[in-house]
Amino acid sequence: FGGAVLALSVAACGGEGAGGDTEESAAPEDLTIGVSMPTQTSERWIADGDSVREQLEELGYQVDLQFAGDDIPTQSQQVDQMITQGADVLIIAAIDGTALSSQLQAAADADIPVIAYDRLIRDSENVDFYVSFDNYRVGVAQAEALLTGLGLRTADGAPGEATGPFNVELFAGSLDDNNAHFFFDGAMDTLQPFIDDGSLVVKSGQADIEQVAILRWQQETAQRRMEDLLTSSYNDGSRVDGVLSPYDGLSRGIITALQNAGYGAAANPMAVVTGQDAEIASVKLIDDGVQHSTIFKDTRLLAEQAVVAAEAFLAGEEPEANDTETYDNGVKVVPSYLLPVETVYRDDIQTALVDSGYYTAEEVAAGQ
Ligand code: BGC
Repeated sequence: FGGAVLALSVAACGGEGAGGDTEESAAPEDLTIGVSMPTQTSERWIADGDSVREQLEELGYQVDLQFAGDDIPTQSQQVDQMITQGADVLIIAAIDGTALSSQLQAAADADIPVIAYDRLIRDSENVDFYVSFDNYRVGVAQAEALLTGLGLRTADGAPGEATGPFNVELFAGSLDDNNAHFFFDGAMDTLQPFIDDGSLVVKSGQADIEQVAILRWQQETAQRRMEDLLTSSYNDGSRVDGVLSPYDGLSRGIITALQNAGYGAAANPMAVVTGQDAEIASVKLIDDGVQHSTIFKDTRLLAEQAVVAAEAFLAGEEPEANDTETYDNGVKVVPSYLLPVETVYRDDIQTALVDSGYYTAEEVAAGQ
């Protein structure tokens, strides 16, 4: 019960609690952490929620964990309720990064520290800390995986054997998620030189984030967009060689559209499709040689950082940031703790995902 020890030692030093008058002397079991997650449709958020809850409960805290079903009013209401029920710290992964301003004002008025979890909360002064991954680097890594898959670059970053031109299509996440912009910027900064020299061709011509974004990161929407692209831009016998996809759920929708159009057969190989989150269904597709790659972001480590930050606030301290420049939320630069990311190709599944205990070999084989 490190938290109890921490709380007691802070009380002994007469430290000021960030979250209220009596917290520096409160035992963990008298403190509640509100944890607001966006949705259960993507398994990463379930894993995040579970990890945060387990780690907090191990330290003795009460946890109020809620999922909002990707519905903005539901999330607002859940956060409101956490505040009225006396949460001592809030950990929030927002659906829409700009939609929680009034809740955050209420939290600030009640002296409740707010930690933005994975997704930056924008346009509010009342965000105290941000824990995430290096989101620009995620985009760079996705683009590098696409280039590697096409043979334009080797895995070590050297120029590849292939010269192209390759037809590619681009996808981005939900525009109301700050991360979607970081992913796309990182990817496009990496791909643009290849587009400029003609080795990559975006045949549809759709290369602005507004044209390629998928609202709420929905798999079906991505599948429909890929189907539309195939009909509109590839009905002349040409093929899609690669697809930049920022998230495994979108990747699976894209792959389904491609498979329905005959891709994946011997004479018509599957396009190189990237991803993110190492969702188990996609890890299986990677293992089966269908999806090309994913980006592994260890949700256990992110949860740990959120817990470390929450404990710092409860002890009346500022959490330790490792980035104080990148994440301007429109009102202020939010001090951040960013974790590194790892690209996973088929050969990395064992070391990155199984040996680390993220999945068992049986889960990978079953895809669930
Ligand atoms: C997260 C990604 C995730 C996406 C869709 C983003 O905010 O950073 O890991 O793929 O949301 O859930």
